[in-house]
Amino acid sequence: MTEMNKVRAIARKLKEREINLNRLEWTQYTTGFDFGVSRAQREYLAVLKDRDNYRAVLRLRDSAFGPKDRRRAEILYRIFQPYHLSPKLNRLDERIREKTLELSKLLNRFRFRVDGREVRSTQISQILRSHPDRKIRKKAFLSRAQINRPLVEAGFLDLISMRREFASLYGAKDFVAYRLERDELSEKIFQGWPQQAARLRPARERINRELGGRYLRDEKVMPWDTAYLGYRMAPELDTPVNMANFYEPLRKFFLLMGFDLDGYAITYDIFPRRHKSEWGYNFTIEEGRDSRVLANLEGRFHELGVLLHETGHALHSFLLDPGEIILNLGVSGIISEGLANLFGDLQYHPRFYGYFLKGSPKKAGDNLHRLRSFQKANAFAAMCGILFDQELYRQPLKSLDDINHLYWQVHRLILDEGPYAPEPTWGFRIHHTTHPIYLHNYFLGDLTNQMLKKTFSHRFRVNDPLKRPRQFGDFIYNQVIKPSGLYPFLDLFERISGRAFSLEYLEDR
Ligand SMILES: [Zn+2]
Repeated sequence: MTEMNKVRAIARKLKEREINLNRLEWTQYTTGFDFGVSRAQREYLAVLKDRDNYRAVLRLRDSAFGPKDRRRAEILYRIFQPYHLSPKLNRLDERIREKTLELSKLLNRFRFRVDGREVRSTQISQILRSHPDRKIRKKAFLSRAQINRPLVEAGFLDLISMRREFASLYGAKDFVAYRLERDELSEKIFQGWPQQAARLRPARERINRELGGRYLRDEKVMPWDTAYLGYRMAPELDTPVNMANFYEPLRKFFLLMGFDLDGYAITYDIFPRRHKSEWGYNFTIEEGRDSRVLANLEGRFHELGVLLHETGHALHSFLLDPGEIILNLGVSGIISEGLANLFGDLQYHPRFYGYFLKGSPKKAGDNLHRLRSFQKANAFAAMCGILFDQELYRQPLKSLDDINHLYWQVHRLILDEGPYAPEPTWGFRIHHTTHPIYLHNYFLGDLTNQMLKKTFSHRFRVNDPLKRPRQFGDFIYNQVIKPSGLYPFLDLFERISGRAFSLEYLEDR
């Protein structure tokens, strides 16, 4: 057997166990029934931890010939290598996992208090969206800072320093560089962010002044106003929708772009019930064969964005070649999210909302357009959280005060604004604890979405991709989906756009 065939057999085994695990997880997420998730996880990890398998991957990495096989070898190497580090690194990794788990439990158990009453995170979001009293929204928003101290007292800074130690033992420049390398990303993506932010600030200030003045009677839009403002300017978001009939409009809409959902057996489980996870997911059980959407819709227009987003993921998974097990493992998370965001965003396109918003389409169009402009102009504020997360691994930190101070520093660097409260809200964001150096994926996914639309529009000389929906569908398939496993994010981005990666796609032009 050639090295490639040996490794293919290993990848098939890994895939079989992953499919089994996916089915069990879907069942657990949708019903709460556990038919053996942790055993399936162990069986899956056993393939990764097997030393003979790892040796085969290393041999392939030395001998692979041709770009596709070299890519396959590289993808597998990245997946297997973290399970075969030095004993010292393995032990440290184990301690990091334990600490992460401990702190994530604290985060999940913690209940914020507003005026002495316990509130769930979903209730806070609800208040921020809809409470007309600004003082109450402010209180609800700032209640999220309550978890900072307990988190630090339970060892958040120990977790940070263990991750730093890990990166230095591994031989990386720092933990940020280590994580980015694992995700096939480069630090050059983050260069020049403060300068780019400075270029984007005037547009944000302009639109916030205008809309704040109009809807809040205050030109200064505060962090606790953003969600509320969105619902005020586009009340369509709250329009009741008969979700029992969700499929037909969705099918018609994707068909415009040449994607026939009837040809793909996407399973939809979209209504809330007891023992079901409260979020939205796409579970790809197996590429090209079985993909399932979990959502919790109650019947409002704004929820359709989730349905479009997750259907975008499902479509992507159906259009991948199930025979390319290894290349499919190499699809960049940013590209998947970018594609899903692209479909999710089409919620604001008249050809989509026309199915749901009867009445005055012109008014709905104006409102949703204003909402999108507001969201786009404010999108770069996400840089704060991303850079703060990175600086945690670069600055000397000894106390909660140091972390808070660091947060305000980054806040000023990006938004040129001083502190909005005595203490910033950062600890509630579970990513800093459980998924370090990850937040950029959402942001870059959105950037990718903008790049795809702009590249297509430029190439086909339209101002709206859905003026040529068939060609847009072909473009998505041929330029993005088909090659998505073959290239790391930056390479694919440059191949599609024809230019070097840049943040300029954030600018609304
Ligand atoms: Zn997604």
